[in-house]
Amino acid sequence: RRLPLDTSDEQGSRIVRGACFSRVRPQPVLGPRLVALSSPALSMLGLDADAVRQDPLAPEYLSGSRLLPGSEPAAHCYCGHQFGQFAGQLGDGAVCYLGEVRAPSALGVGVPNPTGRWEIQLKGSGLTPYSRHADGRKVLRSSVREFLASEALFHLGIPTTRAGSCVTSDSRVLRDVNYDGHVSNERCTVVLRIAPSFIRFGSFEIFKAEDEMTGRQGPSAAFDDLRTQLLDYVIDTFYPELQQAHPDDRVQRNSAFFREVVQRTARLVALWQCMGFCHGVLNTDNMSILGLTIDYGPYGFMDRFDPDFICNASDAGGRYSYRAQPSVCRWNLLKLAEALVPDLPLEVSRAVLEEFDAEFDGCYLTIMRTKLGLLRQQVPEDKTLVTELLETMHNTGADFTNTFRLLCGISHSCLGDTDEDVLQKILNQCASLEELKVAHRPRMEPRELSMMLTLAQANPVLFQFLNSRKPVMQELERVERYRELSQQSESDYLDKQRALWVKWLDKYRNRLSMEVEGATDIEALATERLNIMKSSNPRVVLRNYIAQNAIDAAERGDYSEVNRVLRVLEQPFSDEVDILDDICSTDRTVDESAEQM
Ligand code: AMP
Ligand code: MG
Ligand code: MG
Repeated sequence: RRLPLDTSDEQGSRIVRGACFSRVRPQPVLGPRLVALSSPALSMLGLDADAVRQDPLAPEYLSGSRLLPGSEPAAHCYCGHQFGQFAGQLGDGAVCYLGEVRAPSALGVGVPNPTGRWEIQLKGSGLTPYSRHADGRKVLRSSVREFLASEALFHLGIPTTRAGSCVTSDSRVLRDVNYDGHVSNERCTVVLRIAPSFIRFGSFEIFKAEDEMTGRQGPSAAFDDLRTQLLDYVIDTFYPELQQAHPDDRVQRNSAFFREVVQRTARLVALWQCMGFCHGVLNTDNMSILGLTIDYGPYGFMDRFDPDFICNASDAGGRYSYRAQPSVCRWNLLKLAEALVPDLPLEVSRAVLEEFDAEFDGCYLTIMRTKLGLLRQQVPEDKTLVTELLETMHNTGADFTNTFRLLCGISHSCLGDTDEDVLQKILNQCASLEELKVAHRPRMEPRELSMMLTLAQANPVLFQFLNSRKPVMQELERVERYRELSQQSESDYLDKQRALWVKWLDKYRNRLSMEVEGATDIEALATERLNIMKSSNPRVVLRNYIAQNAIDAAERGDYSEVNRVLRVLEQPFSDEVDILDDICSTDRTVDESAEQM
Protein backbone atom coordinates (compact mmCIF):
# COMPACT_ATOMS: atom_id res chain seq x y z
CA ARG A 1 0.00 0.00 0.00
CA ARG A 2 1.49 3.31 -1.08
CA LEU A 3 1.04 6.60 0.66
CA PRO A 4 0.55 9.78 -1.38
CA LEU A 5 3.87 11.05 -2.69
CA ASP A 6 4.94 14.57 -3.58
CA THR A 7 6.49 14.12 -7.01
CA SER A 8 7.64 17.70 -7.52
CA ASP A 9 11.25 17.78 -8.81
CA GLU A 10 12.04 20.69 -6.62
CA GLN A 11 13.90 19.94 -3.37
CA GLY A 12 13.88 23.51 -1.98
CA SER A 13 12.15 24.26 1.37
CA ARG A 14 8.44 24.72 0.89
CA ILE A 15 4.99 23.88 2.15
CA VAL A 16 3.99 20.49 0.76
CA ARG A 17 0.28 19.90 0.23
CA GLY A 18 -1.64 16.71 -0.31
CA ALA A 19 1.28 14.28 0.17
CA CYS A 20 2.82 12.30 3.01
CA PHE A 21 6.30 12.01 1.49
CA SER A 22 8.48 14.00 -0.91
CA ARG A 23 11.12 12.48 -3.16
CA VAL A 24 14.59 13.73 -2.20
CA ARG A 25 18.23 12.90 -2.87
CA PRO A 26 20.65 12.55 0.04
CA GLN A 27 23.52 15.02 -0.39
CA PRO A 28 27.01 13.50 -0.63
CA VAL A 29 29.69 14.33 1.95
CA LEU A 30 33.46 14.61 1.52
CA GLY A 31 35.67 11.83 2.86
CA PRO A 32 33.08 9.76 4.75
CA ARG A 33 34.49 7.36 7.38
CA LEU A 34 33.03 5.02 9.95
CA VAL A 35 32.85 6.11 13.57
CA ALA A 36 30.98 3.05 14.83
CA LEU A 37 28.68 0.21 13.83
CA SER A 38 26.10 -1.58 15.93
CA SER A 39 26.33 -5.31 15.19
CA PRO A 40 22.95 -6.24 16.68
CA ALA A 41 21.19 -3.42 14.81
CA LEU A 42 22.85 -4.24 11.48
CA SER A 43 22.05 -7.92 11.94
CA MET A 44 18.33 -7.04 11.80
CA LEU A 45 19.01 -6.05 8.18
CA GLY A 46 20.96 -9.23 7.52
CA LEU A 47 24.25 -7.35 7.56
CA ASP A 48 27.38 -8.59 9.28
CA ALA A 49 29.15 -5.70 11.00
CA ASP A 50 32.62 -7.14 10.36
CA ALA A 51 31.91 -7.48 6.65
CA VAL A 52 30.56 -3.91 6.57
CA ARG A 53 33.70 -2.70 8.32
CA GLN A 54 35.87 -4.37 5.65
CA ASP A 55 33.89 -2.92 2.75
CA PRO A 56 35.63 0.18 1.38
CA LEU A 57 32.32 1.48 -0.01
CA ALA A 58 30.38 1.16 3.26
CA PRO A 59 31.06 4.74 4.45
CA GLU A 60 29.85 6.00 1.07
CA TYR A 61 26.58 4.09 1.32
CA LEU A 62 26.02 4.76 5.01
CA SER A 63 26.48 8.51 4.58
CA GLY A 64 24.16 8.73 1.58
CA SER A 65 27.07 9.68 -0.69
CA ARG A 66 26.13 6.64 -2.77
CA LEU A 67 22.64 5.30 -2.99
CA LEU A 68 22.04 1.72 -1.86
CA PRO A 69 20.58 -0.28 -4.77
CA GLY A 70 16.80 -0.35 -4.56
CA SER A 71 16.53 2.84 -2.49
CA GLU A 72 13.66 5.21 -3.06
CA PRO A 73 14.78 8.17 -1.00
CA ALA A 74 12.01 10.34 0.43
CA ALA A 75 11.41 12.79 3.26
CA HIS A 76 8.26 12.51 5.37
CA CYS A 77 5.84 15.39 5.82
CA TYR A 78 4.62 15.80 9.37
CA CYS A 79 3.46 18.60 11.66
CA GLY A 80 3.51 18.90 15.40
CA HIS A 81 2.84 20.69 18.64
CA GLN A 82 6.14 22.06 19.93
CA PHE A 83 6.20 23.12 23.58
CA GLY A 84 2.42 23.17 23.65
CA GLN A 85 1.89 25.23 20.49
CA PHE A 86 0.83 24.00 17.08
CA ALA A 87 3.86 24.61 14.86
CA GLY A 88 2.46 23.78 11.41
CA GLN A 89 4.54 21.85 8.90
CA LEU A 90 7.79 20.40 10.27
CA GLY A 91 8.68 17.19 8.45
CA ASP A 92 11.98 15.37 7.93
CA GLY A 93 14.22 18.41 7.71
CA ALA A 94 17.43 16.46 8.13
CA VAL A 95 16.31 12.90 7.50
CA CYS A 96 15.88 10.86 4.35
CA TYR A 97 14.14 7.50 4.09
CA LEU A 98 15.94 5.01 1.89
CA GLY A 99 13.17 2.44 1.84
CA GLU A 100 12.39 -0.84 3.56
CA VAL A 101 14.57 -3.89 4.09
CA ARG A 102 12.99 -7.30 4.40
CA ALA A 103 14.19 -8.75 7.70
CA PRO A 104 16.14 -11.95 7.06
CA SER A 105 14.68 -13.44 10.21
CA ALA A 106 12.31 -11.70 12.51
CA LEU A 107 13.26 -14.24 15.16
CA GLY A 108 16.06 -13.70 17.58
CA VAL A 109 16.40 -9.98 17.14
CA GLY A 110 14.26 -9.26 20.17
CA VAL A 111 12.19 -6.54 18.54
CA PRO A 112 8.50 -7.10 17.84
CA ASN A 113 7.88 -6.19 14.26
CA PRO A 114 4.71 -7.52 12.63
CA THR A 115 5.78 -6.42 9.16
CA GLY A 116 9.01 -8.39 8.91
CA ARG A 117 10.42 -5.29 7.19
CA TRP A 118 12.57 -2.49 8.53
CA GLU A 119 12.35 1.11 7.42
CA ILE A 120 15.85 2.53 7.11
CA GLN A 121 16.73 6.19 7.01
CA LEU A 122 19.73 8.48 7.12
CA LYS A 123 19.75 11.27 9.67
CA GLY A 124 21.87 14.27 8.70
CA SER A 125 21.78 13.59 4.97
CA GLY A 126 21.15 17.16 3.84
CA LEU A 127 18.41 19.43 2.56
CA THR A 128 14.81 18.34 2.05
CA PRO A 129 11.63 20.37 1.38
CA TYR A 130 11.23 20.36 5.19
CA SER A 131 14.60 21.84 6.13
CA ARG A 132 13.13 25.33 6.58
CA HIS A 133 16.01 27.67 7.45
CA ALA A 134 18.42 24.94 8.52
CA ASP A 135 20.90 22.91 6.49
CA GLY A 136 19.64 19.34 6.92
CA ARG A 137 22.93 18.29 8.49
CA LYS A 138 23.83 16.78 11.83
CA VAL A 139 27.22 17.04 13.50
CA LEU A 140 29.42 14.54 15.30
CA ARG A 141 28.14 15.50 18.77
CA SER A 142 24.45 15.07 18.08
CA SER A 143 25.04 11.95 15.97
CA VAL A 144 27.15 10.13 18.57
CA ARG A 145 24.49 10.99 21.16
CA GLU A 146 21.69 9.60 18.96
CA PHE A 147 23.70 6.52 17.99
CA LEU A 148 24.72 5.57 21.55
CA ALA A 149 21.35 6.34 23.15
CA SER A 150 19.33 4.38 20.58
CA GLU A 151 21.38 1.28 21.27
CA ALA A 152 21.59 1.91 25.03
CA LEU A 153 17.81 2.10 25.40
CA PHE A 154 17.32 -1.01 23.33
CA HIS A 155 19.66 -2.99 25.57
CA LEU A 156 17.85 -1.65 28.64
CA GLY A 157 14.67 -3.17 27.26
CA ILE A 158 13.04 0.14 26.33
CA PRO A 159 11.24 0.24 22.95
CA THR A 160 13.20 2.52 20.63
CA THR A 161 14.24 3.23 17.07
CA ARG A 162 17.67 1.71 16.43
CA ALA A 163 20.95 3.00 15.07
CA GLY A 164 23.03 0.83 12.74
CA SER A 165 25.95 3.10 11.97
CA CYS A 166 27.52 6.48 12.54
CA VAL A 167 29.65 7.93 9.74
CA THR A 168 31.46 11.25 9.94
CA SER A 169 33.13 13.22 7.14
CA ASP A 170 35.29 16.15 6.08
CA SER A 171 32.27 18.22 5.06
CA ARG A 172 31.67 21.01 7.54
CA VAL A 173 28.76 23.09 8.80
CA LEU A 174 28.64 26.01 11.22
CA ARG A 175 27.02 25.56 14.61
CA ASP A 176 26.51 27.82 17.63
CA VAL A 177 28.08 26.44 20.75
CA ASN A 178 26.88 27.09 24.29
CA TYR A 179 24.77 30.15 23.49
CA ASP A 180 27.73 32.49 24.00
CA GLY A 181 28.00 33.58 20.40
CA HIS A 182 30.90 31.20 19.81
CA VAL A 183 30.52 29.48 16.45
CA SER A 184 32.31 26.31 15.45
CA ASN A 185 32.89 24.54 12.20
CA GLU A 186 31.76 20.95 12.71
CA ARG A 187 31.92 17.70 10.79
CA CYS A 188 28.78 16.56 8.97
CA THR A 189 27.88 13.18 10.41
CA VAL A 190 25.18 10.71 9.41
CA VAL A 191 23.39 8.03 11.45
CA LEU A 192 21.58 5.08 9.89
CA ARG A 193 18.28 4.69 11.76
CA ILE A 194 16.15 1.55 11.73
CA ALA A 195 12.58 0.95 12.91
CA PRO A 196 9.42 -0.86 11.81
CA SER A 197 8.12 2.66 11.18
CA PHE A 198 9.01 6.28 11.96
CA ILE A 199 5.42 7.50 11.66
CA ARG A 200 4.57 9.86 14.53
CA PHE A 201 1.57 11.50 16.13
CA GLY A 202 2.58 14.55 14.09
CA SER A 203 2.17 12.54 10.89
CA PHE A 204 -1.59 12.79 11.47
CA GLU A 205 -1.43 16.50 12.17
CA ILE A 206 -0.62 17.54 8.59
CA PHE A 207 -4.35 17.68 8.04
CA LYS A 208 -4.72 20.19 10.84
CA ALA A 209 -2.08 22.39 9.21
CA GLU A 210 -4.10 22.45 6.04
CA ASP A 211 -7.17 23.49 8.05
CA GLU A 212 -5.20 26.33 9.63
CA MET A 213 -3.67 27.46 6.37
CA THR A 214 -6.90 27.50 4.44
CA GLY A 215 -9.11 28.58 7.32
CA ARG A 216 -11.24 25.57 6.47
CA GLN A 217 -13.91 24.70 9.02
CA GLY A 218 -15.86 21.86 7.51
CA PRO A 219 -14.63 18.57 6.02
CA SER A 220 -12.37 18.63 2.98
CA ALA A 221 -12.66 15.67 0.67
CA ALA A 222 -9.00 15.59 -0.36
CA PHE A 223 -7.53 15.80 3.10
CA ASP A 224 -10.06 13.61 4.85
CA ASP A 225 -9.19 10.97 2.29
CA LEU A 226 -5.46 11.39 2.88
CA ARG A 227 -5.85 11.05 6.66
CA THR A 228 -7.98 7.98 6.17
CA GLN A 229 -5.37 6.47 3.85
CA LEU A 230 -2.60 7.09 6.36
CA LEU A 231 -4.69 5.62 9.17
CA ASP A 232 -5.59 2.57 7.10
CA TYR A 233 -1.94 2.11 6.17
CA VAL A 234 -0.79 2.29 9.79
CA ILE A 235 -3.45 -0.10 11.06
CA ASP A 236 -3.16 -2.60 8.18
CA THR A 237 0.60 -2.64 8.40
CA PHE A 238 1.42 -2.35 12.08
CA TYR A 239 -1.78 -3.39 13.85
CA PRO A 240 -3.17 -6.06 11.48
CA GLU A 241 -4.87 -7.91 14.35
CA LEU A 242 -7.13 -4.87 14.94
CA GLN A 243 -8.20 -4.86 11.32
CA GLN A 244 -9.04 -8.57 11.63
CA ALA A 245 -10.91 -8.06 14.90
CA HIS A 246 -13.12 -5.29 13.49
CA PRO A 247 -13.42 -5.91 9.74
CA ASP A 248 -16.77 -4.11 9.38
CA ASP A 249 -16.74 -1.41 12.01
CA ARG A 250 -14.28 1.39 11.34
CA VAL A 251 -15.00 3.36 14.51
CA GLN A 252 -14.48 0.24 16.63
CA ARG A 253 -11.29 -0.54 14.77
CA ASN A 254 -9.97 3.02 15.06
CA SER A 255 -10.90 3.12 18.71
CA ALA A 256 -9.03 -0.15 19.33
CA PHE A 257 -6.06 1.34 17.48
CA PHE A 258 -6.10 4.45 19.64
CA ARG A 259 -6.33 2.29 22.78
CA GLU A 260 -3.27 0.35 21.64
CA VAL A 261 -1.30 3.57 21.11
CA VAL A 262 -2.42 4.81 24.55
CA GLN A 263 -1.26 1.56 26.16
CA ARG A 264 2.09 1.45 24.37
CA THR A 265 2.76 5.09 25.19
CA ALA A 266 1.85 4.59 28.86
CA ARG A 267 4.16 1.59 29.06
CA LEU A 268 6.97 3.47 27.31
CA VAL A 269 6.84 6.45 29.65
CA ALA A 270 6.63 4.10 32.67
CA LEU A 271 9.87 2.48 31.48
CA TRP A 272 11.52 5.89 31.08
CA GLN A 273 10.50 6.85 34.63
CA CYS A 274 11.78 3.57 36.05
CA MET A 275 15.16 3.92 34.31
CA GLY A 276 15.58 7.60 35.19
CA PHE A 277 15.46 8.61 31.54
CA CYS A 278 14.32 12.03 30.44
CA HIS A 279 13.54 12.52 26.74
CA GLY A 280 13.79 16.29 26.73
CA VAL A 281 11.70 17.22 23.65
CA LEU A 282 8.33 15.50 23.93
CA ASN A 283 6.70 17.39 21.10
CA THR A 284 3.98 15.51 19.22
CA ASP A 285 6.32 15.10 16.24
CA ASN A 286 8.65 13.11 18.49
CA MET A 287 5.96 10.63 19.61
CA SER A 288 6.00 7.32 17.77
CA ILE A 289 2.76 5.74 16.60
CA LEU A 290 4.33 2.41 17.64
CA GLY A 291 5.28 3.48 21.18
CA LEU A 292 9.02 3.71 20.44
CA THR A 293 11.44 6.23 21.87
CA ILE A 294 12.13 8.47 18.89
CA ASP A 295 14.49 11.41 18.28
CA TYR A 296 17.41 11.67 20.66
CA GLY A 297 18.29 15.29 21.26
CA PRO A 298 19.05 16.75 24.67
CA TYR A 299 17.92 13.60 26.52
CA GLY A 300 19.49 12.69 29.82
CA PHE A 301 19.71 9.86 32.32
CA MET A 302 19.40 11.26 35.80
CA ASP A 303 22.35 11.03 38.15
CA ARG A 304 21.18 12.18 41.58
CA PHE A 305 17.43 11.69 41.79
CA ASP A 306 15.53 14.91 41.27
CA PRO A 307 11.89 14.81 40.14
CA ASP A 308 12.33 18.28 38.63
CA PHE A 309 15.29 17.19 36.54
CA ILE A 310 15.30 19.07 33.21
CA CYS A 311 17.73 17.89 30.55
CA ASN A 312 16.87 20.37 27.81
CA ALA A 313 18.71 23.68 28.26
CA SER A 314 16.04 25.51 26.27
CA ASP A 315 13.19 24.20 28.46
CA ALA A 316 13.30 26.84 31.17
CA GLY A 317 9.72 26.22 32.28
CA GLY A 318 10.32 22.51 32.80
CA ARG A 319 7.54 21.45 30.44
CA TYR A 320 9.53 18.30 29.69
CA SER A 321 11.02 17.67 33.13
CA TYR A 322 11.27 14.10 34.45
CA ARG A 323 8.18 14.49 36.60
CA ALA A 324 6.15 15.98 33.74
CA GLN A 325 6.76 13.16 31.24
CA PRO A 326 3.65 11.04 31.96
CA SER A 327 1.22 13.97 31.84
CA VAL A 328 2.89 15.40 28.74
CA CYS A 329 2.57 12.05 26.97
CA ARG A 330 -1.09 12.02 27.88
CA TRP A 331 -1.50 15.54 26.51
CA ASN A 332 0.22 14.46 23.30
CA LEU A 333 -2.21 11.55 23.01
CA LEU A 334 -5.05 14.06 23.21
CA LYS A 335 -3.49 15.95 20.26
CA LEU A 336 -3.36 12.66 18.35
CA ALA A 337 -7.03 12.05 19.20
CA GLU A 338 -7.91 15.51 17.87
CA ALA A 339 -6.00 14.79 14.67
CA LEU A 340 -7.96 11.55 14.14
CA VAL A 341 -11.35 13.30 13.96
CA PRO A 342 -13.60 12.41 12.10
CA ASP A 343 -12.20 8.91 11.56
CA LEU A 344 -12.47 8.57 15.30
CA PRO A 345 -15.01 10.85 17.06
CA LEU A 346 -13.46 12.79 19.91
CA GLU A 347 -16.00 11.57 22.46
CA VAL A 348 -14.88 8.00 21.76
CA SER A 349 -11.15 8.73 21.94
CA ARG A 350 -11.52 10.88 25.05
CA ALA A 351 -13.11 7.95 26.86
CA VAL A 352 -10.21 5.72 25.80
CA LEU A 353 -7.72 8.36 26.93
CA GLU A 354 -9.26 8.18 30.41
CA GLU A 355 -7.57 4.78 30.69
CA PHE A 356 -4.10 6.30 30.40
CA ASP A 357 -3.50 7.03 34.10
CA ALA A 358 -4.46 3.55 35.27
CA GLU A 359 -2.38 2.00 32.49
CA PHE A 360 0.64 4.11 33.41
CA ASP A 361 0.25 3.47 37.16
CA GLY A 362 -0.08 -0.25 36.57
CA CYS A 363 3.01 -0.48 34.34
CA TYR A 364 5.01 1.76 36.64
CA LEU A 365 4.23 -0.25 39.76
CA THR A 366 4.88 -3.57 38.02
CA ILE A 367 8.31 -2.42 36.83
CA MET A 368 9.18 -0.89 40.20
CA ARG A 369 8.13 -4.10 41.99
CA THR A 370 10.46 -6.04 39.73
CA LYS A 371 13.28 -3.58 40.35
CA LEU A 372 12.80 -4.05 44.09
CA GLY A 373 12.47 -7.82 43.83
CA LEU A 374 8.87 -7.83 45.11
CA LEU A 375 7.76 -10.73 43.00
CA ARG A 376 5.50 -13.07 44.91
CA GLN A 377 3.07 -10.73 46.62
CA GLN A 378 1.22 -7.60 45.58
CA VAL A 379 0.73 -5.43 48.61
CA PRO A 380 -1.13 -2.11 48.27
CA GLU A 381 1.58 -0.45 50.40
CA ASP A 382 4.15 -1.14 47.67
CA LYS A 383 3.20 2.11 46.00
CA THR A 384 4.11 4.04 49.15
CA LEU A 385 7.31 2.05 49.52
CA VAL A 386 8.38 3.21 46.05
CA THR A 387 7.38 6.83 46.68
CA GLU A 388 9.29 6.84 49.95
CA LEU A 389 12.34 5.33 48.28
CA LEU A 390 12.37 8.15 45.74
CA GLU A 391 11.86 10.74 48.49
CA THR A 392 14.73 9.26 50.45
CA MET A 393 16.93 9.40 47.36
CA HIS A 394 15.95 13.00 46.76
CA ASN A 395 16.49 14.06 50.37
CA THR A 396 19.88 12.42 50.60
CA GLY A 397 21.18 13.18 47.12
CA ALA A 398 21.39 9.53 46.11
CA ASP A 399 22.19 8.43 42.57
CA PHE A 400 19.13 6.89 40.88
CA THR A 401 20.84 4.08 38.93
CA ASN A 402 23.43 3.17 41.55
CA THR A 403 20.94 3.07 44.43
CA PHE A 404 18.71 0.56 42.68
CA ARG A 405 21.72 -1.57 41.77
CA LEU A 406 22.97 -1.48 45.36
CA LEU A 407 19.58 -2.63 46.65
CA CYS A 408 20.23 -5.96 44.90
CA GLY A 409 22.72 -6.57 47.70
CA ILE A 410 20.29 -6.32 50.62
CA SER A 411 20.36 -9.64 52.48
CA HIS A 412 17.87 -11.29 50.24
CA SER A 413 17.30 -14.33 52.35
CA CYS A 414 16.18 -12.02 55.17
CA LEU A 415 18.17 -14.21 57.53
CA GLY A 416 20.81 -11.65 58.31
CA ASP A 417 19.62 -8.43 59.90
CA THR A 418 22.52 -6.09 59.47
CA ASP A 419 23.16 -5.24 55.82
CA GLU A 420 25.51 -2.65 57.24
CA ASP A 421 27.83 -2.77 54.24
CA VAL A 422 25.03 -2.15 51.75
CA LEU A 423 23.82 0.76 53.85
CA GLN A 424 27.36 2.11 53.89
CA LYS A 425 27.65 1.76 50.11
CA ILE A 426 24.37 3.59 49.61
CA LEU A 427 25.49 6.36 51.94
CA ASN A 428 28.86 6.59 50.21
CA GLN A 429 27.26 7.53 46.92
CA CYS A 430 24.89 10.10 48.41
CA ALA A 431 25.67 13.78 48.03
CA SER A 432 27.66 15.68 50.61
CA LEU A 433 25.98 18.60 52.35
CA GLU A 434 27.82 21.06 50.10
CA GLU A 435 26.77 19.23 46.94
CA LEU A 436 23.16 19.15 48.03
CA LYS A 437 23.23 22.84 48.83
CA VAL A 438 24.49 23.55 45.34
CA ALA A 439 21.75 21.33 43.90
CA HIS A 440 19.11 23.29 45.78
CA ARG A 441 20.55 26.73 45.34
CA PRO A 442 17.85 28.77 43.69
CA ARG A 443 18.45 30.36 40.34
CA MET A 444 16.67 33.52 41.48
CA GLU A 445 17.91 35.78 44.24
CA PRO A 446 17.22 33.80 47.46
CA ARG A 447 16.17 36.86 49.45
CA GLU A 448 13.73 38.01 46.81
CA LEU A 449 12.22 34.55 46.63
CA SER A 450 11.88 34.04 50.37
CA MET A 451 10.15 37.40 50.61
CA MET A 452 7.70 36.25 47.99
CA LEU A 453 7.16 33.04 49.90
CA THR A 454 6.43 34.89 53.15
CA LEU A 455 3.97 37.15 51.36
CA ALA A 456 2.34 34.23 49.59
CA GLN A 457 1.86 32.32 52.81
CA ALA A 458 -0.23 35.20 54.14
CA ASN A 459 -2.03 35.90 50.88
CA PRO A 460 -4.07 33.12 49.28
CA VAL A 461 -4.59 35.07 46.05
CA LEU A 462 -0.87 35.59 45.55
CA PHE A 463 -0.30 31.98 46.53
CA GLN A 464 -2.72 30.77 43.90
CA PHE A 465 -1.14 33.03 41.32
CA LEU A 466 2.35 31.73 42.06
CA ASN A 467 1.11 28.20 42.16
CA SER A 468 -0.15 28.55 38.61
CA ARG A 469 3.41 29.42 37.64
CA LYS A 470 5.10 26.16 38.39
CA PRO A 471 8.70 27.19 37.89
CA VAL A 472 8.30 30.00 40.43
CA MET A 473 6.84 27.61 42.98
CA GLN A 474 9.66 25.19 42.35
CA GLU A 475 12.21 27.91 42.88
CA LEU A 476 10.48 28.78 46.14
CA GLU A 477 10.61 25.19 47.29
CA ARG A 478 14.28 25.14 46.47
CA VAL A 479 14.84 28.17 48.66
CA GLU A 480 13.11 26.35 51.50
CA ARG A 481 15.33 23.33 50.98
CA TYR A 482 18.38 25.50 50.61
CA ARG A 483 17.61 27.33 53.85
CA GLU A 484 17.02 24.09 55.71
CA LEU A 485 20.26 22.65 54.42
CA SER A 486 22.23 25.78 55.18
CA GLN A 487 21.21 25.61 58.80
CA GLN A 488 22.56 22.10 59.22
CA SER A 489 26.04 21.15 60.31
CA GLU A 490 27.87 18.47 58.39
CA SER A 491 27.57 15.96 61.26
CA ASP A 492 23.84 16.63 61.80
CA TYR A 493 23.40 16.17 58.10
CA LEU A 494 25.25 12.85 58.02
CA ASP A 495 23.17 11.58 60.97
CA LYS A 496 20.00 12.62 59.23
CA GLN A 497 21.04 11.04 55.96
CA ARG A 498 21.81 7.78 57.73
CA ALA A 499 18.56 7.88 59.70
CA LEU A 500 16.52 8.37 56.53
CA TRP A 501 18.10 5.36 54.87
CA VAL A 502 17.87 3.14 57.96
CA LYS A 503 14.18 3.97 58.16
CA TRP A 504 13.44 3.15 54.55
CA LEU A 505 15.62 0.03 54.50
CA ASP A 506 13.77 -1.31 57.58
CA LYS A 507 10.49 -1.01 55.75
CA TYR A 508 11.99 -2.62 52.70
CA ARG A 509 13.41 -5.52 54.71
CA ASN A 510 10.01 -6.10 56.35
CA ARG A 511 8.39 -6.14 52.96
CA LEU A 512 11.01 -8.58 51.68
CA SER A 513 10.31 -10.96 54.52
CA MET A 514 6.72 -11.22 53.25
CA GLU A 515 8.14 -12.54 49.99
CA VAL A 516 9.44 -15.69 51.66
CA GLU A 517 6.47 -16.30 53.96
CA GLY A 518 5.44 -19.94 53.79
CA ALA A 519 8.23 -20.84 51.38
CA THR A 520 10.31 -23.94 51.93
CA ASP A 521 13.35 -23.22 49.81
CA ILE A 522 14.24 -19.71 50.87
CA GLU A 523 17.71 -19.82 49.32
CA ALA A 524 16.32 -20.72 45.88
CA LEU A 525 13.85 -17.86 46.11
CA ALA A 526 16.61 -15.51 47.13
CA THR A 527 18.74 -16.49 44.15
CA GLU A 528 15.82 -16.05 41.79
CA ARG A 529 15.09 -12.66 43.28
CA LEU A 530 18.71 -11.57 42.98
CA ASN A 531 18.85 -12.58 39.31
CA ILE A 532 15.65 -10.74 38.47
CA MET A 533 16.76 -7.62 40.33
CA LYS A 534 20.12 -7.63 38.60
CA SER A 535 18.50 -7.90 35.20
CA SER A 536 16.17 -4.97 35.84
CA ASN A 537 18.55 -2.58 37.59
CA PRO A 538 21.34 -1.62 35.20
CA ARG A 539 24.88 -1.33 36.45
CA VAL A 540 25.59 1.31 33.85
CA VAL A 541 23.54 3.84 31.88
CA LEU A 542 24.57 6.42 29.30
CA ARG A 543 25.27 9.30 31.66
CA ASN A 544 25.91 12.62 29.97
CA TYR A 545 29.56 12.79 30.87
CA ILE A 546 30.13 9.30 29.45
CA ALA A 547 28.66 10.39 26.12
CA GLN A 548 30.63 13.63 26.31
CA ASN A 549 33.97 11.83 26.86
CA ALA A 550 33.28 9.68 23.83
CA ILE A 551 32.37 12.77 21.79
CA ASP A 552 35.49 14.68 22.87
CA ALA A 553 37.69 11.77 21.79
CA ALA A 554 35.79 11.38 18.51
CA GLU A 555 36.28 15.06 17.76
CA ARG A 556 40.02 14.45 18.09
CA GLY A 557 39.66 11.64 15.53
CA ASP A 558 39.76 8.81 18.09
CA TYR A 559 36.65 6.65 17.81
CA SER A 560 37.76 3.98 20.26
CA GLU A 561 35.87 5.50 23.20
CA VAL A 562 32.57 5.55 21.26
CA ASN A 563 33.10 1.88 20.49
CA ARG A 564 34.13 0.98 24.03
CA VAL A 565 31.08 2.75 25.49
CA LEU A 566 28.86 0.99 22.95
CA ARG A 567 30.20 -2.43 24.02
CA VAL A 568 29.54 -1.64 27.67
CA LEU A 569 26.02 -0.37 26.93
CA GLU A 570 25.26 -3.61 25.12
CA GLN A 571 25.42 -5.39 28.49
CA PRO A 572 24.14 -2.86 30.98
CA PHE A 573 23.05 -5.48 33.53
CA SER A 574 26.20 -7.54 33.53
CA ASP A 575 28.63 -7.81 36.44
CA GLU A 576 31.06 -9.53 34.12
CA VAL A 577 31.88 -6.87 31.54
CA ASP A 578 34.85 -4.90 32.72
CA ILE A 579 32.97 -1.70 32.90
CA LEU A 580 36.03 0.14 34.15
CA ASP A 581 35.60 2.33 37.16
CA ASP A 582 35.57 5.59 35.28
CA ILE A 583 32.43 4.58 33.42
CA CYS A 584 30.57 3.52 36.54
CA SER A 585 31.34 6.49 38.72
CA THR A 586 28.78 9.12 39.55
CA ASP A 587 31.02 12.08 38.67
CA ARG A 588 28.95 14.76 37.15
CA THR A 589 29.80 17.34 34.62
CA VAL A 590 27.56 20.31 34.14
CA ASP A 591 25.55 19.59 31.05
CA GLU A 592 26.16 22.20 28.44
CA SER A 593 26.27 19.68 25.68
CA ALA A 594 22.57 19.74 24.92
CA GLU A 595 21.94 18.76 21.37
CA GLN A 596 22.81 21.21 18.68
CA MET A 597 21.29 20.38 15.31
P1 AMP B 1 13.40 18.07 16.67
O1 AMP B 1 13.33 19.13 17.72
O2 AMP B 1 14.74 17.40 16.59
O3 AMP B 1 12.31 17.08 16.80
O4 AMP B 1 13.24 18.76 15.24
C1 AMP B 1 12.16 19.61 14.95
C2 AMP B 1 12.12 19.91 13.47
O5 AMP B 1 13.32 20.54 13.04
C3 AMP B 1 11.94 18.68 12.59
O6 AMP B 1 11.11 19.04 11.53
C4 AMP B 1 13.34 18.42 12.10
O7 AMP B 1 13.35 17.72 10.88
C5 AMP B 1 13.87 19.82 11.94
N1 AMP B 1 15.34 19.84 12.01
C6 AMP B 1 16.10 19.48 13.06
N2 AMP B 1 17.39 19.61 12.76
C7 AMP B 1 17.47 20.06 11.49
C8 AMP B 1 18.54 20.40 10.61
N3 AMP B 1 19.82 20.31 10.99
N4 AMP B 1 18.22 20.83 9.38
C9 AMP B 1 16.93 20.94 8.98
N5 AMP B 1 15.90 20.66 9.77
C10 AMP B 1 16.15 20.22 11.01
MG1 MG C 1 12.10 15.35 15.86
MG1 MG D 1 16.05 16.01 16.81
